[in-house]
Amino acid sequence: MEEKKAAWKELPEGDVLEGGSSLKFKTGNWRTDRPVHIPEKCIHCFICWIACPDGAVKVNAETGKFEEFNYDYCKGCGICAHECPKDAIKMVNEQEVDKK
Ligand code: SF4
Ligand code: SF4
Repeated sequence: MEEKKAAWKELPEGDVLEGGSSLKFKTGNWRTDRPVHIPEKCIHCFICWIACPDGAVKVNAETGKFEEFNYDYCKGCGICAHECPKDAIKMVNEQEVDKK
């Protein structure tokens, strides 16, 4: 006889969090590689800002220029480095960063 499967409504809830709670969860500790900005190559086009899925590229509101990466939330996916048209972002292994 086939075992009866639970209906989805009968399944226990997972770790469901309230909406709008992403700022509470710093996802930067997942990272194995971090993006490092190379200012002399940057033309401040903000393709990296558009491409980052985590909103981890900060723009200086006064100067309108690239400011920094927010490493609290950057997961190190490397999309910014891949999309940068000027090769102004280098991905560096976190262990190499720790040695410095
Ligand atoms: S995509 Fe590259 S050149 Fe454009 S703002 Fe970002 S780092 Fe600078
Ligand atoms: S590595 Fe990924 S998460 Fe980090 S700043 Fe670049 S695009 Fe955003």
